[in-house]
Amino acid sequence: MGFKVISLGELLVEIMRDEVGVPLNISGRFLGPFPSGAPGIFINAIAKLGIECSFIGTVGNDGFGELILNRFKESGVDISNISISKDYTTGAAFIAYRKDGSREFIFHFNKAASGNIRESQIKHEIFKGVEWLHITGSTITANEMCRQSGYKAVQIAKAMGTKVCFDPNIRPELADIKRIRAVCEPVLKRTDILLPSEKEACSLAGIENENEACLELKSRGIEVIVLKRGAKGCKIYVKNRIIDIPGFTVDEVDPTGAGDSFAAGLVYARIQGWEWEKSGRFANAVGALDVARFGPMEGAPTLREALELAGI
Ligand code: ATP
Ligand code: MG
Repeated sequence: MGFKVISLGELLVEIMRDEVGVPLNISGRFLGPFPSGAPGIFINAIAKLGIECSFIGTVGNDGFGELILNRFKESGVDISNISISKDYTTGAAFIAYRKDGSREFIFHFNKAASGNIRESQIKHEIFKGVEWLHITGSTITANEMCRQSGYKAVQIAKAMGTKVCFDPNIRPELADIKRIRAVCEPVLKRTDILLPSEKEACSLAGIENENEACLELKSRGIEVIVLKRGAKGCKIYVKNRIIDIPGFTVDEVDPTGAGDSFAAGLVYARIQGWEWEKSGRFANAVGALDVARFGPMEGAPTLREALELAGI
């Protein structure tokens, strides 16, 4: 007990092409398994920054599950709320990198242990004294069970004074946009900080221009929107200000996990009570350090590394 941050959702291994431009319908080489899953990348990153945290999720009773649990133990994530399924194997995602920088995914998780997150796992006592709940759209769009568990977590969080950080993490591979919008709606209503990418802001608002999209989303009553802009950094929409915070220049080795690591940096900064400019700079640093290493969690920096790049 005594956690500052909780997250829940899919725990996966990622199996990735080692070469750019080899699609998933062609036989070839892969690297991995790497521990992954968007909320898993987040919790691992914030634990490495030194924040006491716990994760609610499910793995299979297999090597992939062990790989994830071992990584969490090493990083300092509490694993007592992760159940080990006897009936399902750990989920997996296959990723190929296209030459234009975009990615192709095949997910095996909504019918795997990863998608088997029961409402009974979301217990009130886990939330006692917790400052932040981080939840992602990939979890609540996975299947009905994950959706209900995610909603329950958000409801308990709001009832217990825990703030909600929501990363839409829209994967068109997993559901169509109309359904994604409908599923996100109840969480958006209770979101304290929304962390969309440019595309996600546009998709959620149904507006082509990302700035207008953020303003529209904000007008629905979301207090803070932090727009993730890849190498360009981020823009923070707070009160009636828009704060543009440039990114750090790094060699991008692997973009996977950038958004989740960024979220960890931002929540870390909010816990410290830093002002917005400093918070955005720190989050940009954590995101940049993540993309500089291959593998979703491999680039999660220590606090010292992140502070140093951020110049704090
Ligand atoms: P993903 O869903 O792939 O994890 P995302 O689309 O949610 O990522 P991005 O905007 O790609 O989010 O990345 C999040 C943050 O990480 C950016 O706002 C930026 O701070 C940092 N970042 C990402 N890519 C780079 C890069 N190439 N160079 C420097 N910083 C980067
Ligand atoms: Mg993302």
